[in-house]
Amino acid sequence: MKIIYSNYLPFNRFKAINLFGIVFARRQYFPLDKRTINHEYIHTRQMFELFIVGFYIWYILEWLYKLIIYKDRLMAYKKISFEKEAYINNINLDYLRERKLFSFIKYL
Ligand SMILES: [Zn+2]
Repeated sequence: MKIIYSNYLPFNRFKAINLFGIVFARRQYFPLDKRTINHEYIHTRQMFELFIVGFYIWYILEWLYKLIIYKDRLMAYKKISFEKEAYINNINLDYLRERKLFSFIKYL
């Protein structure tokens, strides 16, 4: 997985963003910690399971749905199944070896 450090991406207060399997991280976080890298690896796996485009469509639709429910952008983000799976499991550096296909569905 390629990691590009930038002064501009990601926006807001996020540490890193995974775009099509390439991670953009704020330069101030160089080098990214293992937990964050694992988080982004989990997203890359999720992306490939949904042929990348499907991941982004699902991600946006789920965020919009959760935004209606929680009426808070950050809370909606944290409740997205992809994010829940990645945040809960990013501490386990063996997670991707043990993970079954489409595991994000358990976090819906
Ligand atoms: Zn994430």
